[in-house]
Amino acid sequence: MRELSGACMCGAVKLRVRTGATEARECHCTQCRRQSGHVLAFLTVPWDAVDWQGAPAIYRHTEKADRGFCAGCGSYLYWRERSSDMVDLSAGMFDAPTGLHLGPPSFTGNKGDYYDVSPWSAAE
Ligand SMILES: [Zn+2]
Ligand SMILES: [Zn+2]
Repeated sequence: MRELSGACMCGAVKLRVRTGATEARECHCTQCRRQSGHVLAFLTVPWDAVDWQGAPAIYRHTEKADRGFCAGCGSYLYWRERSSDMVDLSAGMFDAPTGLHLGPPSFTGNKGDYYDVSPWSAAE
C-alpha cells in the first residue's frame, strides 16, 4: 500500500488515496473520447479509499453511472457506477512518482477511426 496524491488542473479539488493498485487502463469508449478529447486512463480503487478535499461536481451521464469533474476548471476526475463500491479515478491527476503503469486498454472496439491501438504487451 502507498498513498497517492492528486489534483485537478486548478487545484480546487484534491485527493489522497491509499492503494496497492499499480495498473491503470486507457479507455477508448466513445464517452471517454468525447469528454476528454481523446482517451482517458483510469486507476480503479475502492470508493472508500479516496479522501477528497473539495467536492467534485457530478454529471449523471447514464441512469447507472456518474462522471466527476471540477466545476472550476472542468478537469475529469472519475467515472463511477453508483451501485459499485469501486471508482475509476483519472490517472492523469496523480502527482509523480505515481508507481503506475498502463495495463491492457479497454473498449478498443469503440475506438476512434483516426488512430490505431498498438497490440498491448506486458513490460518485461
Ligand atoms: Zn479544478
Ligand atoms: Zn470510457
